[in-house]
Amino acid sequence: MSTFILWDIDGTLIYNTPSAGVLYLDSIEHVTGVRPTVPVPDPHGMTEGQLLLAALEVNGLDTARLGDVLFELDVLSREQHERGHVREACEGADAAIAAFAARGWSNALLTGNGPNRARYKLLAAGYDPEDFDWDHSYFGHESPTRHHLTAGARAALTGHDVVIIGDTPNDGLAADSAGIPFIAVATGIYSAEQLRATSARVVVDSLTTGLDEVVAAIEALATPAADYVGPEEFGENPDVEVSSAP
Ligand SMILES: [Mg+2]
Repeated sequence: MSTFILWDIDGTLIYNTPSAGVLYLDSIEHVTGVRPTVPVPDPHGMTEGQLLLAALEVNGLDTARLGDVLFELDVLSREQHERGHVREACEGADAAIAAFAARGWSNALLTGNGPNRARYKLLAAGYDPEDFDWDHSYFGHESPTRHHLTAGARAALTGHDVVIIGDTPNDGLAADSAGIPFIAVATGIYSAEQLRATSARVVVDSLTTGLDEVVAAIEALATPAADYVGPEEFGENPDVEVSSAP
């Protein structure tokens, strides 16, 4: 059994920026010929597929073009990356990744971004993508909701300890619906006080000041019922790995 730390990206590994939505607007405009003017209410914690679908809907545009818009978003993200776009890593996250790895825990991603965009974002903020286990990372760009995303992650990681680190109440709700413990970090738009209203095992202002508390919370995870992975599950889920460690 392994421990997987599933990291949210925006607001958790990388600070949000005021211009974050520009690429979404550009993608929709390139595909439909119309630049959206009506904002999506409460977009934080939405998957990209969910957000772009909502943007098409509230602007009266053809929702059947969602796949084309997602494809265009990938193209524009690559171009932005090639122009040398720089992002800012959230304080303490890099040290937390190292501290988790030193304990034998696997750092991985659970994000509403697609995999290409996730990789570009990490590189732009100075992270090494190889510090993350991409085979056990979950990308929600085609998920209708974050719940869909967490349910898939929980099923794929049967038999392992899993924790989600995120910055929004939506991250917490999606973790709850899949039965995954949630840890909240207030480096996004929500304050620690707002995040304390979620199910989070621990809420920290940042991973600089809160790392010890977060490590203790993860160490305290106890899921004895998940220790055993039966042969049926091996047959149905060949990705499941079982550590030979005691
Ligand atoms: Mg986030």
